[in-house]
Amino acid sequence: MCIFCKIVNKEIPSSVVLENDDFLAFKDINPSAPVHILIIPKKHIESFNDVDSETMAKMTPFIKEVAKKVGVFEDGYRLITNINDNGGQEVKHLHFHLLGGTKLAWPKLV
Ligand code: 5GP
Ligand code: ZN
Repeated sequence: MCIFCKIVNKEIPSSVVLENDDFLAFKDINPSAPVHILIIPKKHIESFNDVDSETMAKMTPFIKEVAKKVGVFEDGYRLITNINDNGGQEVKHLHFHLLGGTKLAWPKLV
């Protein structure tokens, strides 16, 4: 079972921000910004490449609710999903990084 499935099953503790039947939002253990939340489907989907449009449609309002709950909705934030090796995906369970809480840099990535 992957590490995020273990977090969903509460086998590994996490700092939960928001949860419903289908999705979980929790704080990244190694934050890259003052606000750094990971948002995942509870069912194991390997990456964005594998997600169906129905799941994404349900995930969209959940992500916005998380952004509101952590107080970044109006000021702005960034969503990132890393995909496979070139994308730098370390955990092979679809997750969106929600980053904010300050003016974020937009660095050159190569
Ligand atoms: P990726 O590189 O796959 O896009 O991002 C994986 C993210 O998961 C990283 O930002 C990393 O800090 C976070 N992470 C890895 N293991 C854990 C964990 O056990 N708990 C939490 N809360 N975050 C984790
Ligand atoms: Zn998983």
